[in-house]
Amino acid sequence: MRKTIVAGNWKMNASKESVNKLVLGILSGMGNVSSEVVVCAPFPYLSQVEALITHSQIKLGAQNLNLNMSGAFTGEVSAKMIKDFGAQHVIVGHSERRSLYGETNIMVAEKVKAALDNDLIPLFCVGETLEQREAGETESVVDAQINTVVELVGIEAFLNIIVAYEPVWAIGTGVTASPEQAQAVHAFIRQLLANKDNGVAQQTPILYGGSMNATNANELIACADIDGGLIGGASLKPEDFLQICRVG
Ligand code: PEP
Repeated sequence: MRKTIVAGNWKMNASKESVNKLVLGILSGMGNVSSEVVVCAPFPYLSQVEALITHSQIKLGAQNLNLNMSGAFTGEVSAKMIKDFGAQHVIVGHSERRSLYGETNIMVAEKVKAALDNDLIPLFCVGETLEQREAGETESVVDAQINTVVELVGIEAFLNIIVAYEPVWAIGTGVTASPEQAQAVHAFIRQLLANKDNGVAQQTPILYGGSMNATNANELIACADIDGGLIGGASLKPEDFLQICRVG
């Protein structure tokens, strides 16, 4: 039985004051949450969140990493640095990084490997654009995104990877994939992994992301192959985020 995981992606939204309010708000409602909860903060706030969530069941994540360990990479942040602030997770291959910062499938795969090599759990994002969906390319796009990672790190590594299916057309748009649409792609992803190793496929969490909110989370997470959510906008509102966390 796979556990439900709910991860918040705050993106580039934070201030010292808002982080305090948000985390304290989430902490105050965690009493009846059984899902695994992760909050992915912008780099400058990792330390603040680390201190706030000490002794709680909330886990900390970052939103990106550089694949090198240290050195002359001005402005970049390594897996080791992320770990230094108590983070256990890192988002890799978010569609915003793929589209705005030119991250290719191979770059994403290398970042997944850098995370794994440093005992960070990658929240590895895949998903198609609207054009690709309309052209009937959803499966081939997701297949290539996943296979590039499998080829680099091997299927066994997926025991330590969380996959997030995030249709690009649903991210931040208010347009959510229907449970049928999402489940179909989740089942495809699980089968893709099962073709390499069924045992690993059955254990790999596959989250849905894309305008998931307190209203639609229930029916999405109820789908057989949807193991939780990666939440953007709704993760900035403690009560909405908590409602999603309580689904699991
Ligand atoms: C995301 O950024 O990963 C995301 C799912 O955003 P939103 O929930 O706002 O669509």
